[in-house]
Amino acid sequence: MFIKLQDALGDMKTQYTAEFRFYAELNDFLPAQQRKQTLLYRFSGHPAIKDPIEVFGVPHTEVELIVINGQAVGFNYQLQTGDRVAVYPVFKNIDLCAMPKLREEILSKPRFIIDVNLGKLAKRMRLLGFDCLYRNDYKDTEVANIAVSDQRVVLTRDRRLLYAKRISHGYWVRAVEVEIQVAEVLQRFNLYDLIQPFTRCLMCNGVLKSVAKADILARLEPKTKLYYDVFYQCNKCQRVYWEGSHIDDMRQRYAVFLGGTQPR
Ligand SMILES: [Zn+2]
Repeated sequence: MFIKLQDALGDMKTQYTAEFRFYAELNDFLPAQQRKQTLLYRFSGHPAIKDPIEVFGVPHTEVELIVINGQAVGFNYQLQTGDRVAVYPVFKNIDLCAMPKLREEILSKPRFIIDVNLGKLAKRMRLLGFDCLYRNDYKDTEVANIAVSDQRVVLTRDRRLLYAKRISHGYWVRAVEVEIQVAEVLQRFNLYDLIQPFTRCLMCNGVLKSVAKADILARLEPKTKLYYDVFYQCNKCQRVYWEGSHIDDMRQRYAVFLGGTQPR
């Protein structure tokens, strides 16, 4: 009897449909056969628009604009039957000032919290002067808590982490190779003008300050002592850095970004 009642209730649940289309790099999240297609979505009730978007596999943090039946809407919009939904990522060259914002503006110089398995990316971002918290044993809840309490942007390879509603700013890192990861992040958050090499400790994210050679002389190798005069020291772990050949390498490697050329 109970089972029959459940069946009956199931049948009574009205099935609605809506059409979805995902644009540009949001297609990265879809299976190959769903990319750049109009997709039919069946649902019941009136789910908030964030839910079906994430059912398709697209984290809300990747979405910059949702247009339904020609109108821009927020994440709390409740899906209606027959809706035609267009979902867009961050635009690179389009001024969205007139559009309603899905989230608060990011800090003028964003700070990051970098998920496990992206240690190399953390070091590279620190090398470019960005404030990046990283540990190789963060739990998902820790990442989310710190992102909220410290207003940090989450960088992760785990898209499910970005489904958390309280994470407002985040990015799913696509590439596996670290140099391409850096290029993705610089482009996604338009960080080209904010690069400041030699301001962050690669190891602990502390702030680097100039230090007089005389103050650290005893800690230097003979050749370093001989050839270098400009030194920096981390305010947390006291590591000493100097402008050696590795910095020239770094400048060359990132010259393409410093010159404003768009990667990808
Ligand atoms: Zn340090």
